[in-house]
Amino acid sequence: MALAEPSSSGRFGEFGGRYVPETLVPACQELERAFRSAWGDPTFRSELDGLLADYAGRPSPLTECHRLSEELGVRVLLKREDLNHTGSHKINNVLGQALLAKRMGKTRLVAETGAGQHGVASATAAALMGMECMVYMGEVDMARQALNVFRMRLLGAEVVPAVSGSRTLKDAVNEAMRDWVATVETTHYCLGSVMGPHPYPWMVREFHTVIGVEARAQCEALLDGGVPDVVTACVGGGSNAIGIFSGFADTEAELVGVEPAGGAAVGRGVPGVVHGMKSYLMQDEFGQVQEAHSISAGLDYPGVGPEHSFLSSIGRARYEAVTDEQVVDAFQLLSRTEGIIPALEPAHALAWISRDRDLLAGRTVLLNMSGRGDKDVAQMMEILG
Ligand SMILES: *Cc1c(COP(=O)(O)O)cnc(C)c1O
Repeated sequence: MALAEPSSSGRFGEFGGRYVPETLVPACQELERAFRSAWGDPTFRSELDGLLADYAGRPSPLTECHRLSEELGVRVLLKREDLNHTGSHKINNVLGQALLAKRMGKTRLVAETGAGQHGVASATAAALMGMECMVYMGEVDMARQALNVFRMRLLGAEVVPAVSGSRTLKDAVNEAMRDWVATVETTHYCLGSVMGPHPYPWMVREFHTVIGVEARAQCEALLDGGVPDVVTACVGGGSNAIGIFSGFADTEAELVGVEPAGGAAVGRGVPGVVHGMKSYLMQDEFGQVQEAHSISAGLDYPGVGPEHSFLSSIGRARYEAVTDEQVVDAFQLLSRTEGIIPALEPAHALAWISRDRDLLAGRTVLLNMSGRGDKDVAQMMEILG
């Protein structure tokens, strides 16, 4: 099965949908219409392909890890999203959304950010296209990620502290949605993962299918027409994972998402509604959304994109959780064996391969290297001393 379009009400099985205040419904509908028309328009597609090639640096390579494979007894291939401009897969989505916003006649982007990576990517796309950009960021996160705040300002964006609730990512999403309701005439909400109300989970997935399309062709060339036994990726909201899964959903390959133990929405969550969607969600006994905790700020999200909940519920994908300690080991392992310093997020997927290497012995595993580790070396220096 290839990944399907959601139903007309924006659902993947029972998950997804559009749980938003009345005032946001027309904005979501306008966006859905505009995306559907753009995605079917060869002119839009070739303009986006041009940006992905000449600005972001696609296609990203597929790297076979000889020394790492030897050490683990598992053949590991990396899809190198870390080599994209701005250092991660996020550029695929923001270029798509910014181009779409322009086509819709919008002049301003708003975005939410947690660790700052999506904020930086959004500010980058806005600078490229000459649009205004305002990024909402939890006050607590702004203090923790001062360097990314400075980067966004360098790129011409305005960074606004979200001061409600726990003053972290989920509060920044609420503030960005509030801004969008009030300014929808001129503004597009550039959401950073496969979450939120319909059409976002579907639209953001489509902008990341380029990862899966490239990886499928690259694997077939390397493996004589074959596909890997396993395709794996880290899961925060789930955008890089769904991007690479999309290339292999119609094959025999096992699809494995890896979550942080402290933010295992699929593994430990229960169905609930947050940020306009129904999905698995970490909640306390009173149904309140729980804070997620992980070593990598980019995975600190208590929910998960609805399509992952669906793929889990039908058994097409499965979800594993790893501890911070296992991630720190994997971060060092890849650096030492391959000369590639990974971001802490994709180090989660490698931590799972390493932990389960006996079960995976002799198999071929494709890992989506969603980002590079430059942003994390200072934090690792503190941890490792
Ligand atoms: C933001 C980020 C993630 C998490 O987002 P997903 O939507 O789950 O992909 C993962 N890896 C990197 C490098 C990131 O910057």
